Amino acid sequence: MESWEKAKEWIRGKLSEQVFDNWFIPIAEADLIDDRLILHVPNNFFREWLSNNYLELIKEAMLVQTGTKIEVEFSLSKDGSSQTVPHELPAEPKPQRGVKGQSRLNPKYTFKNFVVGSFNRLPHAASLAIIDKIGTNFNPLFIYGGVGLGKTHLLHAIGNSVYSKDSTKNVIYASSEELMNDFVASVRSNKMDVFRRKYRKNCDVLLVDDIQFIGGKDGMQDEFFHMFNALYEDNKQIVLTSDKYPHEIPALEERLRSRFQWGLIADIQAPDLETRLAIVKTKADAEGIPLPNDVAMYLATSIKSNVRELEGSLINLAAHASLENQVIDLDFATKTLQKVIALHQTVLTVENVQQTVCKHFNISMSDITGSQRQRSVTFPRQVAMYLCRKGLNSSYPEIGNRFGGKDHTTALAAFRKIDRLVGEDANVRNKVVALERLLGF
Ligand code: ADP
Ligand code: MG
Repeated sequence: MESWEKAKEWIRGKLSEQVFDNWFIPIAEADLIDDRLILHVPNNFFREWLSNNYLELIKEAMLVQTGTKIEVEFSLSKDGSSQTVPHELPAEPKPQRGVKGQSRLNPKYTFKNFVVGSFNRLPHAASLAIIDKIGTNFNPLFIYGGVGLGKTHLLHAIGNSVYSKDSTKNVIYASSEELMNDFVASVRSNKMDVFRRKYRKNCDVLLVDDIQFIGGKDGMQDEFFHMFNALYEDNKQIVLTSDKYPHEIPALEERLRSRFQWGLIADIQAPDLETRLAIVKTKADAEGIPLPNDVAMYLATSIKSNVRELEGSLINLAAHASLENQVIDLDFATKTLQKVIALHQTVLTVENVQQTVCKHFNISMSDITGSQRQRSVTFPRQVAMYLCRKGLNSSYPEIGNRFGGKDHTTALAAFRKIDRLVGEDANVRNKVVALERLLGF
């Protein structure tokens, strides 16, 4: 199926080779029925993993390819042999290419094509300071920010820049998931000495992306603790990115939490209009897309939340223009992007509901999208899910997704429960009504 093949290529460009090979090559077949993409995966383990980790990416890829919002479902491959081992781990990661870790760096992410504005000035400046004198300025540098705001870009830019200044430096880039895969494979094959040599002894700069996923993985946390100490003591540079502050990462060991705060915590906010405009123009230039000023302005004012979506819309627009043999002008842009922008606005509103509910109950966004089970967070979470369903008419899978990748049945159960309580319990009813007013439902 062509759009899936293209989407897969797009995804390939976003992931490391190892991750892509592990999780996307095994997808045997795909069917697109109406607006539903059905992916045939070998077993339950794959299904869980893909849906917990890559659902948004797959949806985004399909959106970029088709210009419409596609729901994703998983089905187990008909091949019975693989179904009998539902919890088997994926194939062992392939050995890293090249002698040094730098081969893992993505050359397309550099400082040169990184637009700086007030929203990311601090992490950008800190990154430059690090390159100047690795291991001595801010150690670790902890880059914090929401999705699609340039954390991964910055991390690769640091690596590329260190390496191009001094090619003897050993730079290792890994997402925490890749680190975890490598760790598990090393434990299984009795090669922890190799693992330790690689990450402790032979590493000058360790770049770990999305470190928040280390929370709750006890063996990995312990290993990472020792890795951290060894590197730190040797004045080797550590840079971490995360979508949560250290104290918000669930089930993170205290000793790691405190270490993550030893250096500098630099956060990236959402970009302002001026910067969004600069980003659209830079990207259009880089891709050779002819983009009139009014269209650039239209994109920058319509898409506010993050850089990735901004870029996605631009690419989408260019793809449509070339397919339909059209010039990109304001009229064409408005028509083509209406769908994307409408989708984007509903996405924003789910966030509004979450934020309003968080504020009301005095809990954090990570509580509401997390999986803690104390009533002090489950109740607000269920109320927020209920409001998304009732006020925004979001689908249950969509709600599940936006609340930290939960199953649609969780969203459905939450809706039913609160719906029942609203009928039975005046206290709950008053709260819900008050929130609905706040939200303008
Ligand atoms: P994150 O890791 O924070 O989710 P990414 O680093 O993957 O975000 O960024 C998403 C996309 O937006 C990438 O294609 C990246 O190149 C681009 N991007 C993000 N921030 C900037 C920026 N300041 N200047 C130029 N491109 C950016
Ligand atoms: Mg990232």
